[in-house]
Order: sequence, then C-alpha cells, then structure tokens
Amino acid sequence: MRIVLLGAPGSGKGTQSQRLMQQEHIPQISTGDLLRAAVAHGTELGRKAKEAMDGGRLVADELVLGLIRERLAEPDARRGFILDGFPRNLAQAQALDRLLATLRQPLDAVVQLEVDYAELVRRISGRRTCADCGRVFNLFTAPGQLSKNEPCPSSDAPHRLMQRPDDNEATVSERLRVYDEQTRPLIEFYRARGLLRTINAEGEVDEVTRRLEQALHAVARPKAAKTARGATRKPRSPKRAQTRRGAPRRAAKSASGMRRKPATDTSAASKRAPARRAPSGARTGGRRSARRARRQTRNLRGPE
Ligand code: ADP
Repeated sequence: MRIVLLGAPGSGKGTQSQRLMQQEHIPQISTGDLLRAAVAHGTELGRKAKEAMDGGRLVADELVLGLIRERLAEPDARRGFILDGFPRNLAQAQALDRLLATLRQPLDAVVQLEVDYAELVRRISGRRTCADCGRVFNLFTAPGQLSKNEPCPSSDAPHRLMQRPDDNEATVSERLRVYDEQTRPLIEFYRARGLLRTINAEGEVDEVTRRLEQALHAVARPKAAKTARGATRKPRSPKRAQTRRGAPRRAAKSASGMRRKPATDTSAASKRAPARRAPSGARTGGRRSARRARRQTRNLRGPE
C-alpha cells in the first residue's frame, strides 16, 4: 500500500504512521524526520534546511525532493510506504506524481487527518520527545504515559524529554499559516484524482487508528473487487477490449497513464469473485450460451 498522510502540524501524522508501519510492515517516510537527522548530523543539506525549519517555513523543494527520491529508491520502499509530511505544496505533489509514475508505483490513497485549530496548538505545545529513544509524549493530551515512569529502553534511565525547537508558540503559528496557504490546496488536488479520504483525527489515539484503518480498508476493497471483476470479464482479444461499450483501451490504466499493478489484497479478491460472477448465459449471450444453459439444466435434473 502506498499512501500519503495529509494534515496540519500536530494532526497526528507521525503517531498514526508509526502504528500503520507496524501493522502493514511498510516504512514510514517522514521528511521532517529526514531533515532533522540531516540537521543533527551537520550535513550540508541539514545546514541549508535549518534556518527554514527554525522559522516554521518550508525547506526548499529541491532539497526535500532529493531526500524523497533517495529514500524511495531504497529496497524497503518497494513493498509500499507511508509518506508523512510530504508532499507539502503543489510543486512537491506534482513532482511526486512524476516520480511515482517513473517507478510505476502510483499512490493508493491520501488520508487527510482533520483536527480543530485550538486542539492543534494544544497538542504541539505539549509535545515532548525523549532525546535517547525518540519516543513522543504529550504533557497535555496523554499525561498518563509520563506518570507510568517506565524507563527509557535506550538508556535504562528515565526518559530525557526535550521540546522540538520549532514547537515554540511563534513558530507554531507560522507553521499553521504555511499549512493553510501551501498544503491545504493539496486536499482538492487529491480529491480531483479520486484518492482523498478524510477522517476525524480528534479523540483517543486508538480510535483515530481505527478510523484510519477503516478508510484504508475502503480503499483496498474496491480495488480487490475490480481485480475480481477483471478476471471474470477478461476480453478474448485486445480488439474486443477497444470496442466494448465504446471505451477504447480503458483497461488497467490509471489517471497518470501508468499501468496499475493488480491489487495486493488477493485474498479479498478471491473471496468476492464467485459472488460477483454473472450467470454464464448473461456473460456470453448468444446461441452458444443458450445451448450451454439447456445442457446445464439437463445436468441439474440428473438421471430420470
Ligand atoms: P510538523 O508536521 O509537525 O510541522 P514535521 O516534522 O513534518 O513537523 O516538519 C518539521 C519542519 O520540517 C517543517 O516545519 C518544515 O520546515 C520542514 N519540512 C518537513 N517536511 C517538509 C517538506 N515536505 N517540504 C518542505 N519543508 C518540510
């Protein structure tokens, strides 16, 4: 499954993609994490990105796209991926389309996580990360996690909680402004491509995970059904495919013009296939099928 999680800072993209990563066994690719790692390692890219990040602005597209190109080329991304925090503007979304088209790996879905503005600010200002193991806590929305006093699995000592440098009040409002101005238009971009699913991302983390899973299952199901129908109705020759119902060469092409791979959820497809199969007479029509129907009726009657 290849998906994008879309949402404002603090909407829970990181938390939800980590859970999804464990369930689906596909990597979470967060441009924010990749950029923070570059900053921490003092690379040239990190030095170039730092100023924009500290100010709550977007890092230059060419830097982010370079990171994404490299990351998607790694072997673990071949089975699918969850993009978290990318794309963040129209130019990035268009570049992603082109890149995935050349890789022949079109997106399956874009899930928008919807959270009220005041709640976003509350979540971001309460966010703390353990400097040793990287686990994310929240002082306001999940204080229970901290009172458990579990030791850090990396240091075996108490977690060392740090606030991200861009989680301060002034930067947060700039990040939310940038989201509204540059990232929000992607909702329409992906809606127009039929990829958008929107979920309410407020409430318990587990509940949001359930909504996310439901949204993604709704994506997997029609795909599986399509595959099943395709298998039963496969035309005999390419010529027939071109003329059938005046839909020339429609089969198996995605919006981007690339051939889609068969749906991965083959178990669902095979379960549904028999139920969707039309009676044989209805499928083939004509005298031959009428003969077949008579023969079947005779067989059903059995020896008299
Ligand atoms: P959040 O979603 O909470 O803002 P991220 O960790 O995704 O946090 O991003 C942190 C910062 O990294 C952003 O404010 C921005 O400066 C930079 N950044 C992350 N992803 C991108 C991107 N796709 N394009 C440009 N800048 C990005």
